[in-house]
Amino acid sequence: MTDLSSTQPSHAEWQTLAARIEPRAQAWIDGRFVDAQSGRTFAAINPATEARIADVASCDADDVDRAVRAARAAFESGAWSRCAPAERKRVLCRLGELITRHGRELALLDSLNMGKRAADALAVDVPGAAGVFAWYGEAVDKLYGEVAPTDPGNLAIVTREPLGVVGAVVPWNFPLDMVAWKVAPALAAGNSVVLKPAEQSPLSALRLAELAHEAGVPRGVLNVVPGFGHTAGRALGLHPDVDAVAFTGSTEIGKKFLEYAGQSNMKQVWLECGGKSPNLVFDDVDDIDLAARKACFGIFFNQGEVCSANSRLLVQRSIHDDFVARLVEHARAYWPGDPLDPASGMGAIVDHAQFERVCAAIARGRERATLAAGGNACQVNGKGWFVEPTIFTGVTPDDPLATDEIFGPVLAVIPFDTEDEAIRLANDSIYGLAASVWTGSLARAHRVSAQLRAGTVSVNTVDALSAQTPFGGFRQSGFGRDLSLHALDKYTGLKTTWITW
Ligand code: NAD
Repeated sequence: MTDLSSTQPSHAEWQTLAARIEPRAQAWIDGRFVDAQSGRTFAAINPATEARIADVASCDADDVDRAVRAARAAFESGAWSRCAPAERKRVLCRLGELITRHGRELALLDSLNMGKRAADALAVDVPGAAGVFAWYGEAVDKLYGEVAPTDPGNLAIVTREPLGVVGAVVPWNFPLDMVAWKVAPALAAGNSVVLKPAEQSPLSALRLAELAHEAGVPRGVLNVVPGFGHTAGRALGLHPDVDAVAFTGSTEIGKKFLEYAGQSNMKQVWLECGGKSPNLVFDDVDDIDLAARKACFGIFFNQGEVCSANSRLLVQRSIHDDFVARLVEHARAYWPGDPLDPASGMGAIVDHAQFERVCAAIARGRERATLAAGGNACQVNGKGWFVEPTIFTGVTPDDPLATDEIFGPVLAVIPFDTEDEAIRLANDSIYGLAASVWTGSLARAHRVSAQLRAGTVSVNTVDALSAQTPFGGFRQSGFGRDLSLHALDKYTGLKTTWITW
């Protein structure tokens, strides 16, 4: 399914591609596809059609151990860990090119596997992943060590060393991009990686491993063990020969990885976890309609299954009613439909369990707040787990609609009167991943941003991020940062070599 074109396929073209696709479904260990040692598989289900699309190897502790041993052997061989940075650059940039070349296939795998719009996967996720591999590839031969200013007669050289075997455990909401955010810097730094994709979305990771091999990543350096969290994920967290785990997922499971590290070898743990990000709209906003349109994007893009989704909208009371009317209007653009149809506004919720969680949150919300838009589950051609873009107004700050991460297309609108109140409400959360501020005042933009406890504050936009900027959170949104050169801190250790004469 080679395709160099970046143009968007039509609905019919996506359907034709979907009928032809043959997902890889075995584990990728030591440079080849293998079954789980138990022979067990689990079903990959398309949440838009409820159809089984593959039987995927269900890895457990034995397979994780096999993958870790392959990763360790590859690391010790030095084929990747000690090769010239310029060689790693060549391979990672080539992988970026291969991701672009196979963009339609990778986009389709994610769309079929977890329900996102194929058009978004091709326009956003694929270039995002390709760009991240290219960015770390380009960076890796431009990183210099240090010479410390020690006393004369000494030379102290400070170098960044790869850690060894890195476990990467990722969620299902941006399957390809979450893999890229972990694997690209880990490989760039010279580590070997054992990757556990989410059980809901393993298919693009398995294809990516094959492309990495084609790009020149030596065997054993990247391994993929699809499986469940309580089996494969737990085994990776507890493995005594894994040097670090980089995790993205829920706060609840992030805490488990801290326990696993304590129970095993005290491996480093880096956590990118949940969020309940506030979007603050002040009445001096320059373009109120743009703010309303972007607020809808901030919560309804990707079915609201975005860690940094602006799920709490704090709007100044003087413009509240006008703003809500505009929100309701713009929400129509996100009406759910077939994820393969570019005309659909939103895709399907990832699986039945998540669908039920979102529906339950809406049902509880109906009892306490005012439903301004949506609020219903729906189906496409009588199948699938879809939810309308949903807006609640009159939400009190202590309501679960305002405190709990729903991870679905559900927006809680909360009015405020003063700047101080807005800041207090925004920071009133166990999370601190992202925030947005809309104001026409530069002074207010600085004043408010400085007081928000969030890893990223977007001013007059939402969800700003790029390969060049660190991404991650404060408080129970985790610690450590993905993206940018700062991510390399997670995958390297500083080493001092002291020479005295
Ligand atoms: P999750 O925590 O349920 O699962 C994440 C990963 O952990 C999966 O691979 C899963 O198999 C594994 N896992 C589950 N239980 C485990 C266990 N007991 N032991 C070891 N591993 C286990 O999260 P999810 O539902 O896949 O994703 C949604 C969550 O991810 C949301 O909370 C969202 O905010 C978060 N997220 C955060 C970021 C970020 O950068 N901060 C980005 C994307 C998603």
